[in-house]
Amino acid sequence: MRDNARWLGAALVAIACAVGGVMVAAWIAPRVPPVPSVTPVVVAVTTTATAQPAPEPAPVASPDGINLSAHSVDEPHSVWVVVNKQRPLDPKEFEPDDLVSTGIPGGKQVTSETAEQLAKMHAAATDDGAPFAVSTAYRSYNFQKGLFAQYVASDGVAKAETFSARPGYSEHQTGLALDFYDSAGGCALKRCYAETKSGTWLVTHAADYGFIERYPEGSTDVTGYKWEPWHWRYVGVELAQYMRDAKIATLEEVFGLPAAPDYE
Ligand SMILES: [Zn+2]
Repeated sequence: MRDNARWLGAALVAIACAVGGVMVAAWIAPRVPPVPSVTPVVVAVTTTATAQPAPEPAPVASPDGINLSAHSVDEPHSVWVVVNKQRPLDPKEFEPDDLVSTGIPGGKQVTSETAEQLAKMHAAATDDGAPFAVSTAYRSYNFQKGLFAQYVASDGVAKAETFSARPGYSEHQTGLALDFYDSAGGCALKRCYAETKSGTWLVTHAADYGFIERYPEGSTDVTGYKWEPWHWRYVGVELAQYMRDAKIATLEEVFGLPAAPDYE
């Protein structure tokens, strides 16, 4: 055994010396990262994408086949953009270019795709006797700047930052986020919204229209915000249903992004 091991060691050293570090690295490279276990559809896409050596990690794919790199989490127009206290909009003064009226009670504006899905969700909730209305939707950089300054003046910076975002760090600036209140019970921007008819209806059904509760209960250390049962974010049906079925509470967790309890 010892002789065999010695021979093998010598042979490996000889090969390494003969071919050099580059060749050894080339032999090792295709073995990492491992090919993720995915559905046939995603495999086909992955194979094409990895035709050349990939310096970046392989696309994340769940057992259900959702491709978690299908949309950017950085690009402000992306339906999957993740905005938090560590991830301001880039640029901070970003304005969506396809804002339209929400078309439901309360008005305000969101992106066109958000409005389309919102209309369907509102119709279904109303049919089920749980109508809701919009309290806030898109907010511009300048509006957020004024709002935040107002909160800081009345509550101080530390407290203001627990419930309001600095300008450039608000999800409302993407045109993908809305605050709702119950058409019968009210509870605008209050925890009691969770107990209203529409508040409970949304928890069960919103994912089927592409919306997630963005600041869920028990996720303050991840999102940087206290529980806001009234604040909903459009991410598209596929991701919203995936998060619901896999019981993944936040965008930070589903995309493997760092928690953002506070500003840098
Ligand atoms: Zn909000």
